[in-house]
Amino acid sequence: MIDSCVVIGAGIAGVNAAEALREKGFEGTVTMIGAEHHQPYDRPPLSKKFLLDNGTPPDFPLRPQTFYDDCRIDLRLGAESTKLDVSSGAVVLDDGTHVHADKVVLATGGRPRRLGLPGCELVGVHSLRTVDDAAAIRGHLDRGSAVAVIGGGFIGTEVAAAAAAVGCPVTLIETERLPMQRALGTEVASLLSRAHRQRGVILRTGVGVDRLTGRGSVTGVELTDGSHIPAELVVVGVGMVPNVELAAAAGLVVSEGVRTDQYGRTSHPAIFAAGDVAEQAGIGRLEHWQQARDGGGRVAHAILGQPSPETPMPWFWSDQFDLNIQLAGTPSPSDSKCWRGDPDALKFSVLYHQGRHVTGIIAVNRGKDVRPAIELIKLGSVVDSDLLDDPATPVRAILKATRGSVAGST
Ligand SMILES: Cc1cc2nc3c(=O)[nH]c(=O)nc-3n(C[C@H](O)[C@H](O)[C@H](O)COP(=O)(O)OP(=O)(O)OC[C@H]3O[C@@H](n4cnc5c(N)ncnc54)[C@H](O)[C@@H]3O)c2cc1C
Repeated sequence: MIDSCVVIGAGIAGVNAAEALREKGFEGTVTMIGAEHHQPYDRPPLSKKFLLDNGTPPDFPLRPQTFYDDCRIDLRLGAESTKLDVSSGAVVLDDGTHVHADKVVLATGGRPRRLGLPGCELVGVHSLRTVDDAAAIRGHLDRGSAVAVIGGGFIGTEVAAAAAAVGCPVTLIETERLPMQRALGTEVASLLSRAHRQRGVILRTGVGVDRLTGRGSVTGVELTDGSHIPAELVVVGVGMVPNVELAAAAGLVVSEGVRTDQYGRTSHPAIFAAGDVAEQAGIGRLEHWQQARDGGGRVAHAILGQPSPETPMPWFWSDQFDLNIQLAGTPSPSDSKCWRGDPDALKFSVLYHQGRHVTGIIAVNRGKDVRPAIELIKLGSVVDSDLLDDPATPVRAILKATRGSVAGST
């Protein structure tokens, strides 16, 4: 008999877990512990809309307050869980409170990776994970500060795009040859790099950072080639570290994240994990909004012993300038590729496959190809691999032909 669930972390994974517990009929107590003081909010807009919309208050609530009241979720904000006492079945908070928990959901997300270089403590050096970080960055953008972004992943490129779009001079520094190269491959990353340049971002690639300069406040970034980029705002976007410490201290199996099976069950029978902190069997640790949302829902099913919805296909989006970028599945550089649309006009998709098996898709301003591609990945194999390699055949037409042939053969 389960009487109490405690969800640690009030992000999308935690909120969805709490909601799904109630939706699935759980009648016991649900307590949600959130270290931040803000009402639980959505993170993706922080590097996009929030930086662009001058004057908009930092307000992207995941749910209205009435939701927590109606669902009888005891939401404790500004409270940090400091220990999982597995022997007594309690979650310990930073004020010494013990909250009894028959089941615990770890949805603690992550924190920005630190650069660890001289000058990182200077005023004007920020990372971006929370609404407070975003507000600080936007304050600089409002003043037209010169911006240096360190790290050309998605958060770095989104911040650079927003800064350029609001008229700030911006330099993006990336050690690889191209920003976003690791995620999107060389060809797509080249096209997007060109788009950044054309829209005003100065790219410094294939070079590292030695130190940040300044006294009190940051004045710039010194690169490993000896050059100096002047900046009043430095945004460090060099990745994320999952908040696994509670789990590790409680003796759970932790590697890249808190290890779980496909349902979010950790190595301890009373503890579940979802979202950015979880390393799920067969998928690994993803930092995708949709994975966090659905993972939260899945752990609720697992806690209640109910059949779990299927694991969603990895899917991620990013918005930069006028560009909507989507990636789905697990495309690999060694897969065969077929381009559709017009790369020069930045309206294209690249469908990845191994023989008749679609493995993934990357789409830029061509979202219409993404859903059918996801369905094709799920189907396993397509009716005719020649269709995959024919740029004139729309992805949805391949799906239609494959479905037709599957239906015809049953
Ligand atoms: C700026 C930004 C832009 C993004 N854009 C996109 C995008 O365009 N597309 C996309 O797919 N994904 C995007 N993501 C990723 C996506 O937002 C994350 O995958 C998602 O937010 C993860 O949700 P989560 O609930 O696992 O963790 P989080 O959202 O990190 O929430 C975890 C919460 O737990 C709290 N917490 C941690 N430890 C404790 C503790 N001990 N006690 C109590 N509370 C604790 C934290 O303070 C935090 O509030 C973006 C992320 C960021 C930061």
